[in-house]
Amino acid sequence: MQESLCNICNRGKVVYFRAYSGERLCSRCFTKTFEKRVAKTIAKYNMLRYNDRIAVAVSGGKDSLTLLKVLAKIETKFPESSMVAITVDEGINVYRDEAIKNAEDFISKMGGIEHVKISFKELYGVTLEDIVKDGVVDKAGIKPCTVCGILRRRALDIAARRVGASVIATAHTLDDVVQTYLMNVFRGDIDKQPFGTRTEVEGFIPRVAPFKLTPEHEVVMYAYLHNIPFQSHVCPYARTSMRDMIRNFLIDYEENYPGTLYTALTSFERLIRPSDVLLQKCEVCGVLTSRRVCRTCEVLKQLGLKEVPVQ
Ligand code: SF4
Ligand code: ZN
Ligand code: ZN
Repeated sequence: MQESLCNICNRGKVVYFRAYSGERLCSRCFTKTFEKRVAKTIAKYNMLRYNDRIAVAVSGGKDSLTLLKVLAKIETKFPESSMVAITVDEGINVYRDEAIKNAEDFISKMGGIEHVKISFKELYGVTLEDIVKDGVVDKAGIKPCTVCGILRRRALDIAARRVGASVIATAHTLDDVVQTYLMNVFRGDIDKQPFGTRTEVEGFIPRVAPFKLTPEHEVVMYAYLHNIPFQSHVCPYARTSMRDMIRNFLIDYEENYPGTLYTALTSFERLIRPSDVLLQKCEVCGVLTSRRVCRTCEVLKQLGLKEVPVQ
């Protein structure tokens, strides 16, 4: 039987079947179309400027290392921009230790990229493990992932300010964004702004998600083809999250109905009506927020920890 060939170049051996478009691609064409889509996403949403100092959130997982690699390629075309990798260490034994080691090895092999680390221990005086072990998370009725996400966001903001970043890039994929939209709908909290697009508000470092139109399994494939390390450990708290339930549901759905994730994203974004949410200074830490007390300060209080202002 004749071996099937890549639909684009008609020469290469097929390594990837893109179910939603029906394309069969060789490694080279897969890589080219993957990188082109990221560049197009950045342009479509005006995510980056020619002279940005980009703080890339690098957890050490394959998604963030892939983002770093792809952005570094794109960034070479913009000599006035610069990039710095930021890793937040929440203090999750084994899991995060492995990720940090992967990030350090990968970044030092890439060469020429500054790598900055910041930890929960340094900022909040405790690790995520300490917080969960104390039982205070249970008592406060919040999930470890909620605490982790909120405190990590503040840590990332602080580190990005320290390095003078003008924008923060995160590795959220199409799957992550649709999960977030759905979770917000279930919580009765429809977004005011599309996820991961550049919104300039004085006092905030904007966040962008260059993978927001890229399905997770394509990031997996890119990482695999380019020898980007995968973690062998999973976070011990991952299974406790609402996100995990939604993720599994969406994976099943996309498998049966390819293209659903993209359609869902565009439908959600049509529903978003950007409004002028009145921002005020958090009464405790002073960051701009739509609430009287920002969510970070609220959670820190629930956990009995002292506030940490964005410096
Ligand atoms: Fe944090 Fe939850 Fe992710 Fe673990 S799975 S790193 S606890 S957000
Ligand atoms: Zn090809
Ligand atoms: Zn606050």
